[in-house]
Amino acid sequence: MSKDILVVGGGIVGVATGLELIKKHPDLSITILEKESSIGSHQTGHNSGVVHAGVYYQPGSLKAQFCREGVDATKAFCLANDIPLDQCGKLLVATNREEVARMEALFRRGIENGLDLERLDAKELRRREPHIVGEGAIYVRTTGIVDYTKVARAMALQFERLGGKVHLSTQVTDMREDANSVTAVTTKGDFVARHAVMCGGLMADRLARLCGIGDDFRVVPFRGQYYRLADRHNQVVKHLIYPIPDPALPFLGVHLTRMIGGFVTVGPNAVLSLGRETYGTSMPNARDLLDTLTYGGFWKVARSNLRSGVTEYWDSLSRKRYLRLCQKYCPELAVDDLLPHPPGIRAQVVMRDGTLLHDFLIRQTARTIHVCNAPSPAATSSIPIARHITELASQAFSLRSIEQVN
Ligand SMILES: Cc1cc2nc3c(=O)[nH]c(=O)nc-3n(C[C@H](O)[C@H](O)[C@H](O)COP(=O)(O)OP(=O)(O)OC[C@H]3O[C@@H](n4cnc5c(N)ncnc54)[C@H](O)[C@@H]3O)c2cc1C
Repeated sequence: MSKDILVVGGGIVGVATGLELIKKHPDLSITILEKESSIGSHQTGHNSGVVHAGVYYQPGSLKAQFCREGVDATKAFCLANDIPLDQCGKLLVATNREEVARMEALFRRGIENGLDLERLDAKELRRREPHIVGEGAIYVRTTGIVDYTKVARAMALQFERLGGKVHLSTQVTDMREDANSVTAVTTKGDFVARHAVMCGGLMADRLARLCGIGDDFRVVPFRGQYYRLADRHNQVVKHLIYPIPDPALPFLGVHLTRMIGGFVTVGPNAVLSLGRETYGTSMPNARDLLDTLTYGGFWKVARSNLRSGVTEYWDSLSRKRYLRLCQKYCPELAVDDLLPHPPGIRAQVVMRDGTLLHDFLIRQTARTIHVCNAPSPAATSSIPIARHITELASQAFSLRSIEQVN
């Protein structure tokens, strides 16, 4: 049977998109196709669980806009669906003079992004967080924590209640597009629709190439390794504790994160992953590794980040070296406090010229829309991203006229 819209990918961006589409166009038949047996199996289920306030992002970028809107939208969704969300706040801690200087620039950027921030001196930092040391900090009141798998599953449930269909264990292996329709060739047979929205996360570039776009970028997977602190440290911090990020690097640095389950994690670092979905093993995935190593854009990034890349790699191999990153602001932690915790793998788009793309990237063909780059804070921003795609789809696919035809 022919559908109106297929959404490929059952991560938080895909299910949020399915939900927004069906709310705006309740008469359309909309189907989500997900290759795994459950919703949120990849990045959505392997992240820090932070509802980011939006301090870091380039003012005027999609990230800055969607993150700011996403905080309120995520909180409202959680409230309406009885999903625990703790607005515990975050401290960005400067541990030396160089970081104090960078902290000032970050403070100004946060203000430009419309946030209500507070500067803390070393004494006030110590008063609020007795176990943390630093020369000063930025207090971000609106940062929170949540379980994004729960959020995504609640979105999928609501989507189904509104008449949407979710097909799990259904992998798209090819896409065909002609003047009147798109066909997703899957492991469960062909799905024909008028339009498709692709939200493939770590596989976004491959899905884009199936539709004839995406030759100028590739997803490079970066593994983020975490440790969980021993339970005696569950109360070690009241806020999330973040470093002052290095503006030259795309990731935020190892942080102490209170999790919604009541424990604390440290991480994630960022090292090249030998596979896009290889969580529990150090065995490389041949196709994924070849994809990265034969890509000129990757080598350009590797050359310009050689020093930090090698340091991150060594830190990832040794618990003692990793510990030093945490002791910088929490000196009482010992090596035995770092217990195993599952890693996450980030989908990071690298352009052919070696640019690490920081902002969200959305591209279109005549009948498809592709979310090509949705790195952090895309979990925080999933609802505004979904609204944006729904708007694009309504215009590009003339969905109003489809509603009239139906
Ligand atoms: C270590 C780490 C920490 C992070 N921390 C945060 C944080 O604290 N806060 C925050 O806001 N963001 C964070 N992020 C980012 C956030 O998790 C992602 O940006 C977000 O989850 C992206 O959602 P998605 O739906 O695009 O991707 P995914 O969750 O990866 O979903 C994509 C889905 O598409 C499916 N798929 C792919 N190919 C196919 C195919 N061919 N056929 C069918 N299905 C397919 C996959 O199986 C997958 O389920 C973090 C990410 C990582 C990895």
